[in-house]
Amino acid sequence: MKLAARVGQVTPSITLAIAAKAKAMKAEGIDVCSFSAGEPDFDTPEHIKAAAKKALDEGKTKYGPATGEPKLREAIARKLQKDNNLGFAAENVIVTNGGKHSLYNLMMALLNGGDEVIIPSPYWLSYPEMVILAGGTPIIVPTDASTGYKITPEQLRSSITPRTKLFVLNSPCNPTGVVYTPAEIKALGEVVVEKDILVVSDEIYEKIIYDDAQHLSIGAVSPEVFDRTIISSGFAKAYSMTGWRIGYLAAPVELVKAVSTIQGHSTSNVCTFAQFGAIAALEGSQDCVEQMRLAFAERRQIMLQRLNAIPGLSCAKPDGAFYLFVNISKSGLNSLEFCDKLLENKRVAAIPAIAFGADDHIRLSYATDMTSIEKGMDRLDKFVRSLV
Ligand code: PLP
Repeated sequence: MKLAARVGQVTPSITLAIAAKAKAMKAEGIDVCSFSAGEPDFDTPEHIKAAAKKALDEGKTKYGPATGEPKLREAIARKLQKDNNLGFAAENVIVTNGGKHSLYNLMMALLNGGDEVIIPSPYWLSYPEMVILAGGTPIIVPTDASTGYKITPEQLRSSITPRTKLFVLNSPCNPTGVVYTPAEIKALGEVVVEKDILVVSDEIYEKIIYDDAQHLSIGAVSPEVFDRTIISSGFAKAYSMTGWRIGYLAAPVELVKAVSTIQGHSTSNVCTFAQFGAIAALEGSQDCVEQMRLAFAERRQIMLQRLNAIPGLSCAKPDGAFYLFVNISKSGLNSLEFCDKLLENKRVAAIPAIAFGADDHIRLSYATDMTSIEKGMDRLDKFVRSLV
């Protein structure tokens, strides 16, 4: 079959493939410790499920507006005001099938052939692929340990060309767990205004931060930055709602209308009764978010201690999300070889960071139970010692 050329320009998601392989091995009865999934292991909180069940029983089973349930758009606008100090109204918000869909639709609504999108690496693996699918050009700006895996204002400024349309900021970051400080966010915001580009701030991990880390949304820096800011987020990570597929985009009305047109001809509305669960998530008690955050914080501590005790591996303490970004450069293996052998020989699933533009690292998710963490770290320790 002769497929469209665009299919050949992108690579299938490595993270989804490895997570699927680990799940399949588990289904065969193989005792796999999986550190691959980017999803909390907790069930969705009861009150959220109850709200969706109630909506289902009340017959909220029909088509709704492509932009989302009005009550949910309002609840999201209120959340953005309250938590993030962003003055979006409901008409600035569109509900999407997850944060992934928000970003994809954004690229489709914004990019023309040759438009450049600045993406700091290590990056969430779908950003460059989405840009390519939309006909744009990803401009990857490498960062490393010397700047704490953060793009500097100078790097951003010098990467901007007359073709630059958008800068993708992800804090807390997947895969590094890095959280930009408010001062760093402000400095990046100044470049956005100075060079008059747009910024999309992917804030899906905003609630999962540790110790003294603070989340500042770049749109709150000044009215000038706000005018150039698009927020992408969703319910998957903070509320353990990965399978519900609900996210959102907040943006200038013109852009929301454009995304609505695209959505109206592709997916239409997000599952109607699921959106009522999302309303309950935002409007109900936030204790569940805090409980999960505390569990992640404890797991992070244990996993990091265990990891840094393994000779030849190293990892900085992440300030957010639920990943360890582990330097494997002393192993003599590239990230794919490392993860393949680790899964085959020791039945531990990890993600090769070549998927995120950093082949000398792997990503370990600690969104899993403590027993698996202890067992998996024992195995990883043995694996690394067997390499020397
Ligand atoms: N953005 C980042 C940085 C992510 O890690 C993910 C999921 O892994 C998403 C967006 C998309 O999340 P979802 O589509 O499940 O809402």
